[in-house]
Amino acid sequence: MRDTDLYARILGVDQPWQVTDVELRLAGGEVEVRVEYAASEGVSCPECGGPAKRYDTRLRRWRHLPTCQYKTILAAQVPRVKCPRHGTKTLVAPWSTPGSGFTALFEALVIDWLREASILAVSRRLDLTWDEVDGVMQRAVKRGLERRRLAVPRRLGVDETSFQKRHEYVTVVADLDRGVVHHVADGRGKAALGVYYEGFSEDERSQIETVAMDMWAPYIAATRDALPAADEKIAFDKFHVAMHLGKAVDRVRREENRLLSDRGDDSLKGTRHLWLYHPDRLPEKAAPRFDQLVRRALKTSRAWMLKELAMEMWECRDRQAARKIFNAWYSWAIRSRLEPIKHVARMIKRSLQGILNAIAAGVTNARLEGINTVIQGLKRSARGFRSRTRFRNAIYFHLGGLDLHPNGVTHSHS
Ligand SMILES: [Zn+2]
Repeated sequence: MRDTDLYARILGVDQPWQVTDVELRLAGGEVEVRVEYAASEGVSCPECGGPAKRYDTRLRRWRHLPTCQYKTILAAQVPRVKCPRHGTKTLVAPWSTPGSGFTALFEALVIDWLREASILAVSRRLDLTWDEVDGVMQRAVKRGLERRRLAVPRRLGVDETSFQKRHEYVTVVADLDRGVVHHVADGRGKAALGVYYEGFSEDERSQIETVAMDMWAPYIAATRDALPAADEKIAFDKFHVAMHLGKAVDRVRREENRLLSDRGDDSLKGTRHLWLYHPDRLPEKAAPRFDQLVRRALKTSRAWMLKELAMEMWECRDRQAARKIFNAWYSWAIRSRLEPIKHVARMIKRSLQGILNAIAAGVTNARLEGINTVIQGLKRSARGFRSRTRFRNAIYFHLGGLDLHPNGVTHSHS
């Protein structure tokens, strides 16, 4: 087989396009594959498909998948044609992606790498600039969002996440059953969630059964406006309640640490993370220190026990059992003389219906926590996002469940 035939095969170049030459530049580590449009072949207007006349050609180059370790460039004299109706137009090469200097297969490779690594890592690996990789990502998300047909979710999760370090937020809405992010909006006001609901018809909205969220008034208001019988559907999930209690435990710890430090006792210093573990997941080497702290009659250990006891509500299968546990817990919490705990206890009491809804609907925190973990990871690996749009698109890229590949490239992953 001649090398031109071989390349025609592996590049998927088909009639009327043909590979005319392959040049191997050993020193530069490059292969250039030249492709031409067959001279005998007629042309039609790329705009309307009607008959057209050949005019001239334009040299264009695309970066393609590497041949072994060699950077591979596809170069073609692309015919321009004259259409009586549309004037001069350039033919569309079947391997290309509009607006990009890469073949569709190469873009697909970049997309697959981006699922595994940061923009910076991918740009180093594939010898591309940061902007080139970013361009592939932005085009992929745009394509994916245009192709997407949103199915009405049965169970939704709404969460806020901070953008950069300032107190700026975006609202993230996810389909909890499919584990896919549907919507990313600026801010965490009522409209941020309201605009998502507006994308569905009234009939579709009535099919939403549960909306898991934090105890956050604007999200509650938006849901009440959009869904019939919303108060039966709003669910305050374990993830968010645990977060509030965890913060309360830490407030108690900080206060107590200050008092102990004044007396020269540093035993609570640097223990913030110890109190956040689920007891079963405490690392072995931290266990002796933690056990010792719990056995001392510290305010912090009391706060921690109250947090763990509250979590038992989620072991229940039905409202009645959970309510019983809550009542016992609440009377202990409210008499605990731990102000931060009492504050959260009152908040939980006000939100009890929503908490019981979550328990009855079997909303687990796995999905919400999972999505949150991925978003925190994106922030870390990007070391902050230069713009809100990039942050939003990174979330869609990794969590949107979108069909990201260019046309004609079949999926290489599930
Ligand atoms: Zn035309």
